[in-house]
Amino acid sequence: MSNYHIKHLEEYYQVYRKSVREPENFWEEVAEEHFMWQKKWDNVLSWDFSKPEVKWFEGAQLNITENCIDRHLSTRGDKTAIIFEPNDPNEPAEHISYKQLHGRVNQFANVLKSQGVKRGDRVCIYLPMIPELAIALLACARIGAIHSVVFAGFSSTALATRINDCDCKMVITSDGSYRGAKTIDLKGIVDEALESCPGVTNVLVAKRIHSDINMKEGRDQWLQPLLDEASTSCKAEVMDAEDPLFILYTSGSTGQPKGMVHSTAGYMVYTAYTFKNVFQYRENDVYWCTADIGWITGHSYIVYGPLANGATTVMFEGVPSYPNFGRFWEIVQKHKVNQFYTAPTAIRALAKQGMELVEQYDLSSIKVLGSVGEPINEEAWHWYNDNIGKKKSPIVDTWWQTETGGIMITPIPFVTPTKPTYATLPFIGIQPAIMDEHGKELKGNQVEGRLCVKFPWPSMARTIWGNHQRYKDTYFSAFENKYFTGDGALRDEVGYYRITGRVDDVIIVSGHNLGTAPIEDAINEHPAVAESAIVGFPHDVKGNALYGYVILKDTGEYRDHNNVRKEINQIITEHIGPIAKLDKIQFTKGLPKTRSGKIMRRILRKIAQRDTSNLGDTSTLLNPEVVQDIMDNVIE
Ligand code: ATP
Ligand code: MG
Repeated sequence: MSNYHIKHLEEYYQVYRKSVREPENFWEEVAEEHFMWQKKWDNVLSWDFSKPEVKWFEGAQLNITENCIDRHLSTRGDKTAIIFEPNDPNEPAEHISYKQLHGRVNQFANVLKSQGVKRGDRVCIYLPMIPELAIALLACARIGAIHSVVFAGFSSTALATRINDCDCKMVITSDGSYRGAKTIDLKGIVDEALESCPGVTNVLVAKRIHSDINMKEGRDQWLQPLLDEASTSCKAEVMDAEDPLFILYTSGSTGQPKGMVHSTAGYMVYTAYTFKNVFQYRENDVYWCTADIGWITGHSYIVYGPLANGATTVMFEGVPSYPNFGRFWEIVQKHKVNQFYTAPTAIRALAKQGMELVEQYDLSSIKVLGSVGEPINEEAWHWYNDNIGKKKSPIVDTWWQTETGGIMITPIPFVTPTKPTYATLPFIGIQPAIMDEHGKELKGNQVEGRLCVKFPWPSMARTIWGNHQRYKDTYFSAFENKYFTGDGALRDEVGYYRITGRVDDVIIVSGHNLGTAPIEDAINEHPAVAESAIVGFPHDVKGNALYGYVILKDTGEYRDHNNVRKEINQIITEHIGPIAKLDKIQFTKGLPKTRSGKIMRRILRKIAQRDTSNLGDTSTLLNPEVVQDIMDNVIE
């Protein structure tokens, strides 16, 4: 893509104003200049949030893989598209050039075709972070099949639910996966899931750990021999702009997962444009996002966004703690990573380890740091800024969702002055609104309420698979003519946004609405605190009171827990006010987290409210074992 970086704040405001005043002209220019179309659109945008229905670039025809691969071949054929860094640091990294990627995607696409997969069919992908995962996504896109990636840490029940929800006939998996020192029997999990998925007739199995697995006659086939037979050229299916590209289930922090459906053209345009600007990617940079492709972050900012820009993107198979907590920094040094994008949960876990492992590695290649997934607390922000970015690499705190497809509120590095815990300004084209609980928009600065978006953007999800009514109810019914994000936010005196947590988690104490993020942020300032989560429980006088779950750093100091309790409340009083003081503080070894590393406050709330008869599905948790421990030590 040609150079369209935004270079300074004045330019940001100029471009932003244009994108809001003339959104159609603006996005049309971006789409025209930077992508390859089989046919241009008849109409840039039509929308109606009351249905809801949104269409971008209607009438256009394209294939996203031609934009992510083919068009780079003449200029970047030998450039590395994907660097695969294996779980085991002693296994050599693999560098896949754009030319090689082209051949491998086409072979895979031909295999899918030979197995009878057709345009519009859903294909479930349940693979570890190996090159076949990225290649499988692109192969589906090449032939117009809709991929549905299920994170390969999910249980057989979670997998089966997702397979059945969108009627997949094929599952692509591997014999197993490596996760640090452990191996996981992925194929065994698939076999178990498929007992309740009668619609699946075809399973393709990649070899990764060379374990002895069961192959069901007539259903299961090894992938490699099929690939070896397949041709390296496959004509790209001509897709319509609004054809679904993929389905992806939200991480499920708030309950039953939703299969968000993303479109082709709008998704491509927005993820590519945000990638380029939010990470200020320059030709020959090496970019690394540590997420798993099983989440939206991996779809948009490991695969599609970077490849649409002809970038070099790192795929890491392992975990941050293996063989030790220096692994991330070792990889940064080894591949001279320029942009590093990770989640607050990882930053906190790494900060807890101290500096010894950080100092062993040369991190001087880093230019931009990113954070996504949860509000980043101030202490973690400073640790990241001081020790990883060495105070010279801006942190982009990117707020967005599975539903939004791409980054929505974020600083632009070297353009937007950053501010800890603030996602700062809306990205180009994004029109946020803060609403009060009566449905009135709060205009001007220094306001706090519910975060909505009042105008469509190209990469927004178009529906929930098989349940358009739920899509409407969840996102378009709370506020008229607005997309409701489910998150709370405030806008400060200069117009910067801070995400205050999920609206469902807001606690009303003596009539005051308290978001979780600012209070947890204050608690985490205490030097002995590693991580915390707060929830509400019923209180005779205040309506609700606050219950805090706190993980202490294992420093050995601060043994006097009652003192720590007092100090935590002092800090809260200083940062927020006495209204936000915690009535109960439980020290715990762990907090229940989703597989993507987010705190499940829903479960903590039930425990604090002593309503544990129905905790909901805890099997999809990263660490289900902590739940019992927390229940056993609940404070009366
Ligand atoms: P579910 O919708 O099933 O409950 P989920 O919301 O955890 O799952 P995602 O779409 O992966 O699934 O996460 C989006 C949410 O993550 C946002 O709505 C917000 O609450 C939180 N989030 C993501 N990035 C940030 C950020 N930079 N700052 C604050 N919160 C963030
Ligand atoms: Mg959500």
